[in-house]
Amino acid sequence: MKRIALVTGANKGLGLETARQLAKEGTTVLMSSRNKERGTEAFQKLKEEGLDVEIVQLEVTNEAEVDALVKHIDSTYGKLDVLVNNAGIMHGGEPTGVNTAEIVKAEVLKETFDVNFFSLVSLTQKMLPLLKKSDSGRIINVSSILGSNTVQSDETSPWSGIKPFAYNASKTALNSFTVHLAAALKDTNIKVNSAHPGWVKTELGGKNAPLEAPEGAKTSVNLSYADFTGKFVHNGEEIAW
Ligand code: NAP
Repeated sequence: MKRIALVTGANKGLGLETARQLAKEGTTVLMSSRNKERGTEAFQKLKEEGLDVEIVQLEVTNEAEVDALVKHIDSTYGKLDVLVNNAGIMHGGEPTGVNTAEIVKAEVLKETFDVNFFSLVSLTQKMLPLLKKSDSGRIINVSSILGSNTVQSDETSPWSGIKPFAYNASKTALNSFTVHLAAALKDTNIKVNSAHPGWVKTELGGKNAPLEAPEGAKTSVNLSYADFTGKFVHNGEEIAW
């Protein structure tokens, strides 16, 4: 049976490109989108490219939608091989001066953690029974080098000047989830890793990013075949937590 993958936030940016590349390699991809119109547009693009994709509704903070999706995957495919936790937000966008640890508002922290961390943990836990039915389950948590405390505390790093606290801390927490879940699942067929896609031209990454989405999606796609677990990776290279 073909590999079945779920990519969250697949209607644009890195999620759309990750869905495309996984499908091109022969995986059946469930593209989740919270917005029906944007999702359908993205889905139709990939369908026209001859790819095996399905569009599914998912606002990641909506538990009822997550539950409905678990049921749908179970009854249609009976398993899940790859979960790409890609959906994410960064408030404000501006990398410096805005939303620093000194001034960030509680509601910004809460909303960012809701999407980038709490929902992701809950969704992953709900998908685990389906991932356990796969011979080689893979969970890819799309993180960011900005969540690396090693990098953030190194003043010589070019990334350490970029400190939107809510976003960075949510990715640090996500990395912790990767380490802890990988340990919890070490005796199963499931491997769990964090991906840093690079700085990529998307709505979130902005226009000045040096990489295009096809390049940025490669790390997640490669991690869907990983034979290791509990690592933080960019382009095949390990990153410090
Ligand atoms: P993007 O183009 O802004 O796409 C983000 C995706 O997440 C969209 O599909 C968006 O849906 C979806 N999303 C946001 N909140 C959601 C929610 N509550 N429920 C469901 N879907 C939701 O950004 P991107 O650059 O492709 O980002 C993808 C991932 O890569 C994120 O986790 C980001 O942190 C990570 N990342 C990006 C970069 C970069 O340079 N671009 C670098 C490091 C890490 P809508 O279209 O409905 O908003």
